Amino acid sequence: MTDCIFCKIIAGEIPSRKIYEDDEFLAFHDITPQAPVHFLLIPKKHIRNIMELEPEDSVLAGRLLNKAQELAKEQGCAEEGARFVINCKTNGGQTVDHLHIHVLGGRFLTWPPG
Ligand code: 5GP
Ligand code: ZN
Repeated sequence: MTDCIFCKIIAGEIPSRKIYEDDEFLAFHDITPQAPVHFLLIPKKHIRNIMELEPEDSVLAGRLLNKAQELAKEQGCAEEGARFVINCKTNGGQTVDHLHIHVLGGRFLTWPPG
């Protein structure tokens, strides 16, 4: 997707602080971190949001969760935990229309969100 910020990050057209990359996924630090640990994990496949996941994406979706867990542990969140967030469309507060999981950790996060 040519006008998608995250596709441009995948393509290397926009720089990012990467923490992980393979054929399917990319993870990088959020540009506006909301916690000591705040990274984004994205599939390289351009899926706009979680509402647009198809049954054919089920393997990818499962691997995405496994990878989020693995990277959260690597980033030091194994003991005290973290928050795994997927914002979706207007009411979910999604600002970038490319599916991503936020992983936030390193401090206590209140609930519910505002
Ligand atoms: P959303 O609001 O869609 O759930 O989250 C989008 C996230 O992407 C935000 O937390 C925002 O700070 C982050 N973001 C937006 N543009 C960039 C960018 O160019 N680079 C990085 N690293 N993060 C970005
Ligand atoms: Zn995209």
